[in-house]
Amino acid sequence: LAKTVSRNQFQFYVASVDSEMRERKSMEKDLSNALNNNEFHIVFQPQIDYQSKAIIGAEVLLRWVHPTRGFVPPDIFIPIAENNGSIVDIGNWVLDEACRQAAIWQQQGHFIKLAINLSAVQLKDSAIEAYIKSTLEKHHIEPRYLEVEITETGVMENLSNAVETLNKIKQYGVSTAIDDFGTGYSSLSYLKKLPIDKVKIDKQFVHDLLIDEDDTSIVNAVIQLSKSLHLSVIAEGVETKEQEAYLVSRGCDMGQGYFYSRPVAAEEFLSYLLEYTRNPPQIG
Ligand code: C2E
Ligand code: MG
Ligand code: MG
Ligand code: MG
Repeated sequence: LAKTVSRNQFQFYVASVDSEMRERKSMEKDLSNALNNNEFHIVFQPQIDYQSKAIIGAEVLLRWVHPTRGFVPPDIFIPIAENNGSIVDIGNWVLDEACRQAAIWQQQGHFIKLAINLSAVQLKDSAIEAYIKSTLEKHHIEPRYLEVEITETGVMENLSNAVETLNKIKQYGVSTAIDDFGTGYSSLSYLKKLPIDKVKIDKQFVHDLLIDEDDTSIVNAVIQLSKSLHLSVIAEGVETKEQEAYLVSRGCDMGQGYFYSRPVAAEEFLSYLLEYTRNPPQIG
């Protein structure tokens, strides 16, 4: 009996791996057409500065709406795009699109810093620095209005390379942030080794802030650590007034999350920015 069961399980396993593989291949193929078919767009999520109480930035997030699959979450398709290298073209498109939008907003008098997510695969290619430069120049955007977010998990493979490229990007005037801090293979030594300006506290720790004692301690520690290292610190995934109040009381510099706004299309972002500026909420 044992033999039969294990054989059936094995067959089930093979079948599911097989269908997963086919699905992955099929998505990979669709992904390779997505840019040409205009299936991508970008959305913007405001970043609130707790000192000035102003919206000083926005994270740019990629969206893929496939004609039959519908909305495909980035957590699903980004790893596939990283795996087959298409993230380079896709990421270049995101940067170009973000700068195009920034130029429109700047012409209307709205100067905010846009933060784009840079994949470790993009960072591996030293041409990224020249691409960033030429894209900013093309759209007449000063480098100080761009930030790149990177995760440690990807850069550890080739740390010295990443450090060198990030240094060039920083020297040019673009700022750098470490994303999802505290997750993955993050370690304190990366904070020291990587040339970064800002730490983004991962939303998983913010989610149970004030509910889970451990998460509260972790958030607190990351804020203090960032401050001692003279890095600015932003909390991701802020969803409640209580979380905001706590973060402000602990000296966290900035916040980002559904409490302020979900990531939204450019027009909606601008309405939010205008309304927020006209009628600034109480913070803390
Ligand atoms: P991330 O860079 O850490 O982005 C933050 C994620 O948290 C976004 O998910 C955002 O929608 C979500 N979020 C923001 N506020 C809240 C909140 O209050 N509560 C909760 N529960 N979630 C919140 P999204 O847009 O699904 O993106 C997931 C990840 O995909 C990003 O994580 C980033 O790693 C990656 N990604 C997205 N766009 C790009 C891109 O253009 N290039 C690259 N390389 N990666 C991207
Ligand atoms: Mg990010
Ligand atoms: Mg993050
Ligand atoms: Mg993430």
